[in-house]
Amino acid sequence: MKKFDFIIIGSGQAGVPLAFSLSKKGTVALIEKSFLGGTCVNNGCVPTKAYLASARRMWDSLHGEEMGIEIPAGAKANLEKIKARKDTLVKGSREGIEKSISSNDKITLFRGEAHFISNYEIAINDDKITAKQIFINVGARAIIPKEFSKVDYLTNVDILELTKLPEHLIIIGGSYIGLEFGQMFKRFGSKVTIIESGDRLISKEDENVSDAIAEILQEENIAIEFNAKEINVTQDGTEILVKINGADKEITGTHLLLAVGRAPNTDTLQLENTSIMYDEEGYITVDDYCKTNIAGIFAIGDCNGKGAFTHTSYNDFQIVEEYILGDKKRKISDRITTYGLFIDPPLGRVGMTKAEATEKGFSILIGQRPMDKVGRAKEKGETKGFMEAIIDAKTNQFLGACVLGVGGDEIISGITNLMYAKQPYTIFRDAIHIHPTVSELIPTMLEDLQPTTKE
Ligand SMILES: Cc1cc2nc3c(=O)[nH]c(=O)nc-3n(C[C@H](O)[C@H](O)[C@H](O)COP(=O)(O)OP(=O)(O)OC[C@H]3O[C@@H](n4cnc5c(N)ncnc54)[C@H](O)[C@@H]3O)c2cc1C
Repeated sequence: MKKFDFIIIGSGQAGVPLAFSLSKKGTVALIEKSFLGGTCVNNGCVPTKAYLASARRMWDSLHGEEMGIEIPAGAKANLEKIKARKDTLVKGSREGIEKSISSNDKITLFRGEAHFISNYEIAINDDKITAKQIFINVGARAIIPKEFSKVDYLTNVDILELTKLPEHLIIIGGSYIGLEFGQMFKRFGSKVTIIESGDRLISKEDENVSDAIAEILQEENIAIEFNAKEINVTQDGTEILVKINGADKEITGTHLLLAVGRAPNTDTLQLENTSIMYDEEGYITVDDYCKTNIAGIFAIGDCNGKGAFTHTSYNDFQIVEEYILGDKKRKISDRITTYGLFIDPPLGRVGMTKAEATEKGFSILIGQRPMDKVGRAKEKGETKGFMEAIIDAKTNQFLGACVLGVGGDEIISGITNLMYAKQPYTIFRDAIHIHPTVSELIPTMLEDLQPTTKE
């Protein structure tokens, strides 16, 4: 049994920075069963955002005419080259981590799948190691409902390995991952059908956001099937046949992507050999500082169920780092929800939706502005979407906001900062912003707030 000061299981978005930070205090064992860098680097944010950039170039090359640019016909997406570009980016990030780890003599990298022997003892292949402080950063993976196990399906991992464009990509699941892949493959040239069990896309958003997103995708000729309560999938050779609601509707495709949600990778940890508490879905129970019920054992990143993004995982690292250094300034409950949906145009979201705010009993004021009333969006020829502010009528502070439109993923951060500063919306309203930008119309939007009734 080799002894370390710290053990980190998983080299995800929290585990890697934590390893470097802890290496200043003692010896660190970092365990990784797959590629260094975890989901974000290898089959999440980095590769998908690289593909989205290629998809945007494709879209631009087909939409020159409306901007007065005559682009000769014949633009074609070459998936082999798109993938090669992505592979270079991913390899660069992965190798950067590898190099930094190998040049740090306090960090020992174990390659293999870790499992617990007891609370403070871990096995990896033939190695057994122990530490008084252990950090679980095992991330999550795509859920594969059992009805799909008999057909060839793709997940976010396999689809990024394709070198030939699917003729007809059928996507099960109309949330973030499904929508991003759907739009990018449509723009590359595949036919795309998205099948959603609910009556709208990304149901955690407000209805007007879901509807606007559906409209954006449908305008690009992405087919969307809603209310698919019963999905039956069979395969004949390379052909995938999907029957919806007892053959109400039949769709034939060449590829099937499953994007129905994520499950934590805690099932292989053999937590039953420990007293660590976890819920029925496998998420490890943690307090505000990512601490489990066992002293010295922390769960960070997606596997604690408190976030599902790279920035939440990185924030878990910051929380734990400060906690260990003896400072408890940061905690999970201080985190304001924020995320992007990286379709084009993107959605930037911060804080509560209208539905959440009204459900929590807030009296709210709403500001809204369509992008076709934003000068800069018109000049760019990108007028789809809208922005919306949700204000607490009592405190005048933002409860939430969304910007679905050109630059929305960046613009939202201005509101995020104000929310962290706990300052009233009037600061944004009365500030002067650069002309011509999309942001300069946020003050105008805030000058005309309207009350709404409970949804
Ligand atoms: C397609 C897709 C697109 C995404 N896009 C975005 C985005 O644009 N923005 C954003 O913020 N988030 C995005 N995400 C989510 C983001 O990737 C994750 O939230 C983030 O990577 C979670 O990091 P983590 O630290 O929890 O773990 P991960 O990054 O998942 O890393 C966990 C690591 O643990 C390893 N591991 C698991 N079990 C064991 C074991 N038993 N022993 C040893 N090693 C183990 C895994 O191999 C993995 O390397 C996306 C996700 C997907 C799937």
